[in-house]
Amino acid sequence: MDPGILFPIYLVFWIVFAIGTKLLFRKKPAEFKRKYNPVLSGFHLVVFLTFACLAFPRIETFLIFVPAGVALFFVGWKGDRYCDSCGKELGNKFMSGEVRKATFCSQCGAKLKDKP
Ligand SMILES: [Zn+2]
Repeated sequence: MDPGILFPIYLVFWIVFAIGTKLLFRKKPAEFKRKYNPVLSGFHLVVFLTFACLAFPRIETFLIFVPAGVALFFVGWKGDRYCDSCGKELGNKFMSGEVRKATFCSQCGAKLKDKP
């Protein structure tokens, strides 16, 4: 398919998905976020890979985007830390040394229970 048509469609999807996810996770407990963030991230990954493979239907697209997307999905899934007290997403421990080393929540000051 023509990337000139697919890109605006994906852009609208991405904006709606980002706003919807932000509203859905707003003021939700950490357990809710731990449970549903990987599900939504996986759904977004599938949609992104579908658009990428439709826009650029070559084997190179598949060989580059699928492993990179799956790797980023697992980094986000296994690396995100949340405060059990206030539900704040503290960040990704694989991307930030401060998040990995944090023992207290930066928002409410509660001691973090999950081990980095
Ligand atoms: Zn907190």
